[in-house]
Amino acid sequence: MDKLITGIHHITALASDAQHNIDFYCGVLGLRLVKKTVNFDAPEVYHFYYGDEIGQPGTILTFFPYQGLSGGRHGKGMLNTTSFSLASSSLGFWEERLKKFGVNYKGPSDRFEETVLYFEDGDGLGLELIFSDKDQRPGFTYGHIPAEHSIKGFYGAELWVEGYEKSAALLTEQMDHVAIAEKGNRFRYAAKDAPGHYIDLVCMPDSLRGLSGAGTVHHIAFSTPDAQTQLDARVRISQRMLNPTPVLDRSYFTSIYFREPGGILFEIATAGPGFMIDEKKEELGTSLKLPNQYEAYREQIEKTVVPINLNFEKYR
Ligand code: ZN
Repeated sequence: MDKLITGIHHITALASDAQHNIDFYCGVLGLRLVKKTVNFDAPEVYHFYYGDEIGQPGTILTFFPYQGLSGGRHGKGMLNTTSFSLASSSLGFWEERLKKFGVNYKGPSDRFEETVLYFEDGDGLGLELIFSDKDQRPGFTYGHIPAEHSIKGFYGAELWVEGYEKSAALLTEQMDHVAIAEKGNRFRYAAKDAPGHYIDLVCMPDSLRGLSGAGTVHHIAFSTPDAQTQLDARVRISQRMLNPTPVLDRSYFTSIYFREPGGILFEIATAGPGFMIDEKKEELGTSLKLPNQYEAYREQIEKTVVPINLNFEKYR
């Protein structure tokens, strides 16, 4: 049977300042802003989607930037580190680049077959650059970062849990993941053994529980091919007694949500229709897009959200 879950779709985090968020992810890291919309559950707050050229599943990092939101805390029951994939020949370029823009980093260090740099965004969100020769994806560039050194998408995500067994059972029994590697307290799973899709469960029984706030991840979404596979996956999640939500329309995909046994919010999102339903490829992310239910309030919403600019010249 074909897989119902094919890998990571997107990761969504909380931030405290819209322009700082844009400057860091588009300016310093060079991701494309593929969609500028609002939180469908709180339309006074932006929802930014960053990704590769068209925001394919496995590349999409999204933020709700609540202006002035206070910081959260990393800990167990949380996705604490989101990692991006780069060519192994890009290590020197990125060490220089992070230094140039005043981003403190730890590493390089080795993990499995990879070289890893760890750092945080201005809100404290845990990030890694992972250098390997396993990733054939082209990546995207606005032009201020050489194409050969651009981020190709996610490498994977690191989830801290009390014990890995129950989360692992969900991933392998209901979510089409297989065990890929393990070392010490790190257990790696993937629906597809390729950069973009690695889920590292890290056992941290002595850690404090994470607290939601700026600089923390809100949820991780996994990709399913279409509406039917989403319903089939929902049945499996229900059978595991994890009480998934009904299917919700997110314009660019449809979603179900549930909490995995380690406490982390999971989503299953359809691969399509994607971000080009309301903007052309060249124009992605350039104007504020609203779902139909909020179009009538566009004027109010545009007055409420802070204006942002997309000019990355100073990040050359
Ligand atoms: Zn989501």
